[in-house]
Parts: sequence; structure tokens; C-alpha cells
Amino acid sequence: MKRETREYQYDWNIWSIIENASLTYDGSPKEYETLLSLVPHFRDALHAIIRQGEPGILFMKQIATYLKSIVSAHENGKKVAMTTFCFAPPILYAFGVVPLLLEPMTVLGTFILQRGTSEYLDYCCEVGFTETSCSSQRGALGAYLAGLGVRPDMIVCDSPGICDTNANSYSFASAYLDIPFYQLCYPPTLTDERAGMFHRQDFMNLISFLEEQTGSRLDIDRLREIVAEIELQNELINEFTEFQRLVPSPIPPIFNLFLYSGNFLMGGTRDFTELLRSMLKTIRLNASRGVSGMNSGKERLRGFFSYIDHYTTDLRLWNFLDRNEISHLGCILSTFWGDEAPYSSERTDAVFTMKRDSLEDMIDSLAMQMSRMPMVKSIRGPYDAPNMWLDDTLIMTRLMKADFVAYFGTIGCRNTWGMVKSYARDLERSGIPTLIMYADAFDDRVQSWEAVMDKMSEFIHLRGLGR
Ligand code: SF4
Repeated sequence: MKRETREYQYDWNIWSIIENASLTYDGSPKEYETLLSLVPHFRDALHAIIRQGEPGILFMKQIATYLKSIVSAHENGKKVAMTTFCFAPPILYAFGVVPLLLEPMTVLGTFILQRGTSEYLDYCCEVGFTETSCSSQRGALGAYLAGLGVRPDMIVCDSPGICDTNANSYSFASAYLDIPFYQLCYPPTLTDERAGMFHRQDFMNLISFLEEQTGSRLDIDRLREIVAEIELQNELINEFTEFQRLVPSPIPPIFNLFLYSGNFLMGGTRDFTELLRSMLKTIRLNASRGVSGMNSGKERLRGFFSYIDHYTTDLRLWNFLDRNEISHLGCILSTFWGDEAPYSSERTDAVFTMKRDSLEDMIDSLAMQMSRMPMVKSIRGPYDAPNMWLDDTLIMTRLMKADFVAYFGTIGCRNTWGMVKSYARDLERSGIPTLIMYADAFDDRVQSWEAVMDKMSEFIHLRGLGR
């Protein structure tokens, strides 16, 4: 790693940029316009978010607050748990622990650092971690392994069996940094009684681990507030998904990113509820006018992104979608399987329900929520088994009236690379044009963003898609 890269703490650096960015619209629009010309390295990323109006500005401020909670955790007497986006954070908030999610931290770096995160990615390999692992953790993990960030007090993850490269990142970090570690495990099935019992028991053990690490018991009143907030958030997310079904979809493509990032980082908090409400105001307005969420108000195509999105610099994926009037109908990251989710009508047993009568009810609800988190739910077993990836994709494409499905992954996605061709073949047989992208969503060195755009444009043209 270059000496100059070591000059700044990674999380502090990202926080200070986003904190300043979040203040840019506090002045007049004219001041904001003038400022854009003065920040050439950040203007595109900044504007992609701020031009969404209230939800964009709110999102930016909330991310700044979240990052501040990480960099100031220890001086505020809080513990930090390094964790993954597959891990629902409410249980950490219930213990007053600050969740430090590696993948969103990587994404923030790829979005706003023009140099990207390659030096941090490579640093993991320099200290002995495998280069065939997932880049989504490595982008930020390299910084933490190099001591360029807050030192986590513990590590919790929940991806063994689902994504072993993800799980290995956390166990490597635990060994390298010498930090206590707990991982939830998952059987290959979801809805049978044995799987449910396993989830519950494993989650109880997680609570014992957190009690031991924090030195405090689980606060029941705080837990009840959080569970009530999740209940409310489920209703708002369901409304969001219902609107996504409309043709044209009134949802700006980037709102999907706000939705899943909000849930990963702030699930169970009032901030996330506020963000959902703010997005829904814009969405309802668009729907009442009969326009799409695109800048032009039109919709040419509807795409379901069956796995993750592409996180190249300046949020160019979302600009590409907007420019080409392609509605983003969601991805594996935005399907949470809360009670009464529109996509659950064919699989009513797959949802989780929030109950808050007793402590056992609440713990049970959180265990079930955790076991339905993106990836944890749908790639734990054979891709074509009930409730797994193919099943979920077919439900979503039917429900959302998708014109096509696109797959983005990382070089480390061994679980999905092992099945993606059969998965694409099955989707094509069901009449859904499917595109497999051989890019890495977090590392442009594998395939440039320009090549990605060319591939997508070629696919749309050759398959005769688009109105
Ligand atoms: S499934 Fe793929 S993108 Fe998800 S954590 Fe694993 S390697 Fe990374």
C-alpha cells in the first residue's frame, strides 16, 4: 500500500467527505450549483444523490450520521461489531453496539474515491488472505487490516454455507486482528421445523455472545421499540414494492439502493423509517401523475437485477439506467420477506412476522428476520429448490413484469458462479431474456465500466428489448 494511502484513516476519510457532501444543499440552489464546479472529483456522485431532492439529501445526512457513529464509537463508550450486509443490525442496536458493515463501507469507497479501493483490496492478499475471495468485503477490510480505521471490538457474521468467501473474510479478520468472533450458521432449507429450531437456538447463542462482549443484559424495552419500528418498516417496504409493480414504475432507480442500504445500515432505527417515508412521498406523487421515476418521466424497459448491483465510481449504473429509461425492479438485496410482502403470496410460509408480546416472541421474530436476509434466504440451498434463487427470481419477474434479468456478481461469488448458467438457462426457458455479466461489482480492474455498459446495450439491442 502506498505511503500516501496510509496517511488517512479509511472510515474517517469517507465520513469527512460524506459529512461535507451532506451539507452542500443547506445553502441556496445557486450556491450548490457553484459548488459543483469546485469539486470535480465528487460532483457526479454527489449530484446523483442530491438531485433526488428530499430523500437524497436525507439519505446523505443519515449516512454521514452512521459513519460518525463508527468513528466516534469508542469515545462515546460504545463497542463496534464488524459485520456483513447479510446480518440484520437490529439486535446490535438493541445492545447499543455500532454495526460496522464491510460491504457498504467498500461501496462508499468505490462510489466516491476516484482511485477506487484497489490498494485496500490488494492489501488483504499481501497479508495472506486469498485473492479469489469476495471483493465486497476486501475493499474495506484491507484498510482495517492495515490499522486504517476504528479497531472493531468483535466480529459477527452469518454467511457460512451461503457464501463461504464472505464467512472466511470475517474469520480471517478475527484471527488477524485477534478479536472475538461469532457466526450464525444456516441449514440448506428454510421453512421446515428443524431449520426453524436451528435458527432460534443459534440466535440465542448469539445473544449470549453479545451479553458477554458488552457486559450488559438485553434491554427488553429497547428491544420492544426496535421490533415495533421493524414492523412499521415492513409495511412501508411493502408499499414501496407494490408501487414498483406499476407500469411505468414511479420509483427512481436509485431508490432501490437507498432502500437496501438503509435496511442494512439502519434497519430497526427511526432514521430508516424516516427515509422510507420520504421516498414514498416522491413515489406517490409520481404515481398520481402517471409518470415513471426517471428524469424524463418515461419508462422504456423494466429490469430485475437478480443478484447485486454494480458499484462503480460516481454511481454510474444508476445514471445509465436513468438515461436509458430502464426501471430498476429490485435485486436480491432488496427482497426482505417481511410479513405480507407482495412477492410472498405464492410462498406464504417464507416470510417472517414481528411479534412483541413476550421476550421470546421478540427474539424469535429477530431470528426469523435474520434468516430471511438477502442471500442468507435464497442462496443457502440448491438454486432450483423451493424458496431459493430461481424460485424467488421467477416470482419477482412475474410480479414486477420484468422485461429482462441481469446478473452482476464478484469474482469471489463461487456459490452463484457454480449455478448461474443453469439458472440463466432456466429463466430463458421461462421466456425471460437473461444477461450474465462477467464483471466484478466492486473492482473495475476485472472489467471496465465502459465494457459493462457496452454489454448491456448490446444485450438490449440484440434481444430487441425496449419500447
Ligand atoms: S455471495 Fe458473492 S457478493 Fe455475496 S458476499 Fe458472497 S462472494 Fe460476495
